[in-house]
Amino acid sequence: MRGQVLHHRELRGVVPRAALDVEGALAVVRPICDDVRARGVAAVVEATERFDGVRLTDLRVPVAALQEALEALDPTVRAALEESVRRARLVHADQRRTSSTVRLAPGGTVTERWVPVERVGLYVPGGLAVYPSSVVMNVVPAQEAGVEQIAVTSPAQKDFGGLPHPTILAACALLGVDEVYAVGGAQAVAMFAYGARDADGALVVPGVDIVTGPGNIYVAAAKRLLKGVIGIDSEAGPTEIGILADDSAVPSEVAADLISQAEHDPMAGAVLVTPSVALAEAVQAELVVQVAATKHRDRVATALAGPQSALVLVDDLEAGMEVVDAYAAEHLEIHTVDARERATRVRNAGAVFVGRWAPVSLGDYCAGSNHVLPTGGCACFSSGLSVQTFLRGVHVVDYDEQALAGVAHHVVALADAEDLPAHGQAVRARFPDGLPA
Ligand code: NAD
Repeated sequence: MRGQVLHHRELRGVVPRAALDVEGALAVVRPICDDVRARGVAAVVEATERFDGVRLTDLRVPVAALQEALEALDPTVRAALEESVRRARLVHADQRRTSSTVRLAPGGTVTERWVPVERVGLYVPGGLAVYPSSVVMNVVPAQEAGVEQIAVTSPAQKDFGGLPHPTILAACALLGVDEVYAVGGAQAVAMFAYGARDADGALVVPGVDIVTGPGNIYVAAAKRLLKGVIGIDSEAGPTEIGILADDSAVPSEVAADLISQAEHDPMAGAVLVTPSVALAEAVQAELVVQVAATKHRDRVATALAGPQSALVLVDDLEAGMEVVDAYAAEHLEIHTVDARERATRVRNAGAVFVGRWAPVSLGDYCAGSNHVLPTGGCACFSSGLSVQTFLRGVHVVDYDEQALAGVAHHVVALADAEDLPAHGQAVRARFPDGLPA
């Protein structure tokens, strides 16, 4: 049989992906979200007991616990968080948008105002690992966008008295966020989407406009399910790393980077794309050695053995570019002699990391870039978390009589063409002596 050449959209269907996708997880999260909608706090408490093994008496973390966590924070970790915040602020402050006005005619303008949403719910993961870095990545863009009410949620931890991990609480305090909930998973997304009342009808958690943040497959599925009730950022589910590499790559570094992202989740994806058989073999040998030595080796080994991870051999680097564009990795590293030039030509990726000195771990914590990025191929149509996520562009249309007169006959012509004569009449009504020519 002759080989078929796949169109690039078809290629997306054959790139490595996890067996359980967001669509599959919807069936699991739908009843959880429906229950939170119907029963509020009681449903959140029950789901937390079931999935996190904690019976919550309060969903909200006491403000004193946030300050205590900050005071107890290891100074080295505090310094690292402060540097992470400083760099993220520089990048996200640069994303702020100012209003702009276009003059269409004398007396006729359209102004685009950028208005922050009023209230946001930020998800910070905390199942297999805890992510104070995700506090920074969520909160900084929301603050830079000018959001007034910022609430954070993160799973209750059995080992920490049913509160989220202390480093997460400390990071919230460092950033001046005092509304924090000890809730994770789909129930957290539903709690923010619908708001949650207690048995007496008191509103314990007011609903939000937008939920952002990374999480596992259940968090991503809940965001997909409730999109429309709330706004979301991207579906930032189980982490993925794609690496495009040639013979110039250092096998031990490539292997270390694949492992670094596989460490997040047994469902994480790690994909090497290369035309070099020698490199592929060397990386495979390195993986054997490095996986055996890494702390979370079970999780890493499961992720690397899953259908979402692969070594992909291509004819040449141009074919490799087609594969990485079809894969649309959350993170794409480029380890080639011409990495900088290739990076400019990548179409689909959550973020691109250029050359051996820009590993994904740098972006996870301290590059200044945002680490909340689209997964599962969503990088083909959505972007990482940014100031823009929290802003809405509102057009303000300001025409005076002369400006409307100048375009009235066009408005009426188009209204007639759409058979919507009342639209035309709304303009005619303003010119009782007849439409201006
Ligand atoms: P998490 O907070 O996302 O998930 C924990 C919650 O999942 C628990 O509170 C529980 O309620 C729920 N849960 C667990 N098992 C369940 C089940 N069987 N059914 C229903 N709900 C269940 O923490 P995590 O599990 O450590 O996952 C963090 C994820 O975030 C990882 O997959 C990581 O790769 C990802 N991540 C993604 C990005 C990104 O930008 N894409 C960034 C950082 C982390």
